[in-house]
Amino acid sequence: MASERVPLVAGNWKMNFDHLEATYFVQKFAWQLRDAHFDFRRVEVALFPSFTSLRSVEVLVEADKLKIRYGAQSVSVTDQGAFTGDISADMIAHLGCSYVIIGHSERRKYHPEDDANIVDQVRAVLAAGMQPILCVGESFEERRQGIELDFAVGQVHDVTRDLNEAEAAKLIIAYEPVWAIGTGMVATPESAQYAAQAIRDDLRATFGDKVADTVRILYGGSVSSKNAVELIGEPDVDGFLIGGAALDVDELTR
Ligand code: PGA
Repeated sequence: MASERVPLVAGNWKMNFDHLEATYFVQKFAWQLRDAHFDFRRVEVALFPSFTSLRSVEVLVEADKLKIRYGAQSVSVTDQGAFTGDISADMIAHLGCSYVIIGHSERRKYHPEDDANIVDQVRAVLAAGMQPILCVGESFEERRQGIELDFAVGQVHDVTRDLNEAEAAKLIIAYEPVWAIGTGMVATPESAQYAAQAIRDDLRATFGDKVADTVRILYGGSVSSKNAVELIGEPDVDGFLIGGAALDVDELTR
């Protein structure tokens, strides 16, 4: 990756860990990073607990002055009112969150999150002063048809065409081929690079060099300690969005 972008390692816990387990994990994780003299200026680390654990994580991070960041896995597009079960961007921001994952393929699949809704989520997160981590990526079928790059770039474009330059600069994009998520089938470093480069080229064409060189593009999909080093060696891969391996402290700190 290019040296001016600080890599981000983001652990997406999905629907795992209650608040007690989350607290235990964060404590153990922080100790292990401290013991390893982990340099937070060189690599940023963020965890994405369930909504029910965010307050516990916030208390711990504040009390121990931890440098670990955290965020939410989704957000409502409305700010308040009669929306039973929804959580607003302001509520999330008030818990000290830096980021919100938006458009994860599991959200696109199991919830009515279409392109319009995803744009609204991005807007809500930006308005609340946080950074969206926008997930894009093709399914196996699009890859079979050889249209994976167009598909992923198109998903980014569906969001960025509604943003101005300052808003676009705050995006983080996670390229996560759906066939690689939770399957153990990781993309090759070359194909992760192709996709990340295509996305960055598109940002450059739309917004110019400053935005294209600022936005971090993560790779996600079966990332583990076995493949991370090779993947991060690619110039346009600026970190990872990690699912399964982020549930194991020892694996995450390896
Ligand atoms: P995985 O999940 O690392 O378990 O493949 C990645 C993700 O869904 O963000």
